Amino acid sequence: MNTTELKYKAEIARYLNAAADDIFLYWKGRVALYAILKAMDVHKGDEIVLPAFTCVVVPNAIKYLGANPVYIDIDAQTYNIDLTQLESKITDKTKVIICQNTFGLSSNVERIVEIAQKYKIKTIEDCTHGFGGTYKGKPNGSYCDAAFYSTQWNKPFSTGIGGFALVTDKELKTKLEKVNTNLEPSTAKDKFSLSVLYFVREKVLTDNRYWQMVKLYRWLSKHKLVQGSSSGTEIESAQMPPHYFKSISSVQIKKGIYNISALDEMLVRRKKNAETYSNYLEKKEKTFVPKNLFNDHSFLKYPFLVKERNEVMRIAEKCKVPLGEWFCSPIHPVRKQFEQWNFRECDFPVATKYSNQILNLPTDVADVTPILRFLEKIEDYLL
Ligand SMILES: *Cc1c(COP(=O)(O)O)cnc(C)c1O
Repeated sequence: MNTTELKYKAEIARYLNAAADDIFLYWKGRVALYAILKAMDVHKGDEIVLPAFTCVVVPNAIKYLGANPVYIDIDAQTYNIDLTQLESKITDKTKVIICQNTFGLSSNVERIVEIAQKYKIKTIEDCTHGFGGTYKGKPNGSYCDAAFYSTQWNKPFSTGIGGFALVTDKELKTKLEKVNTNLEPSTAKDKFSLSVLYFVREKVLTDNRYWQMVKLYRWLSKHKLVQGSSSGTEIESAQMPPHYFKSISSVQIKKGIYNISALDEMLVRRKKNAETYSNYLEKKEKTFVPKNLFNDHSFLKYPFLVKERNEVMRIAEKCKVPLGEWFCSPIHPVRKQFEQWNFRECDFPVATKYSNQILNLPTDVADVTPILRFLEKIEDYLL
């Protein structure tokens, strides 16, 4: 291992109360999940339990191994697995339970682990939103057998695209190391298009140009001129795209070391802005994130609920507010042919309802004034 890679792993490990060699780096977060599942001996026909409010790349990793995703509807307040439904979904084929710290909120993790252990099932935490945050005082990812994280451009800190796994168990680590011997190295072209992505993101993309740039970015990735975060095939089918199982590149490692250094300050800012949003929404008697969840929330984004979401998006674009629309689908961003991912919308009423109502506010902004002004404008749409 070279020294830059070791330094990056050590920086990450510091946040997780772990050792540098508990950290495994990958081209993307989803690749980390796939590697962990493989190291857990997930095979054809196995069942993997996960929340019905996730990113399609999660069930994809399961399907690529021939296993079946088994969804559980979400709890209305935490967006994680509804704990009361968990045991009813466990069968003798269940191999792994995946829980998720959605928008940065961790919940019930120790209870999910407790239930899993009762049935001798392994657990994985999807911490793609929650790196740097804590659950009941311990770093996110501490409770399950393994955790994975993303450093995609709007995750806690960014390497454009990228991800890593945390595994502390010795036996699982040995298996993961073996799985990792099959990783493809990144190519010179990969590194070049990553550099294009960094340039666009840092030199051209300011908040004022957010909407213009989102469009340009989509156009560029459609024409394969930059590294999009998901190739078209990943949201159209559950077939593994070529060159999926790829290791991290030196370009990402360098970017990671640089960007992780700003994380502490960002975590403080995110919580402070979230508090401002909560106070505002509470005063207006709208749905807000209650204070008792703040300790376990790192607020990568601040979720809120609206009616007529498309109209609200249109107003956001006009006000130049960088509004997020994560989970516009229970398996974001899939809109059709849900059966390819073993998903039926009618079985998950809470997730389906929220996927029509949820939007998220940025928490990384220096000044929330324009966002509060925007909230005032859409007051009639707020739920
Ligand atoms: C972003 C994300 C992932 C995947 O991360 P990548 O690094 O893009 O592969 C997985 N799960 C959730 C909930 C995410 O938001």
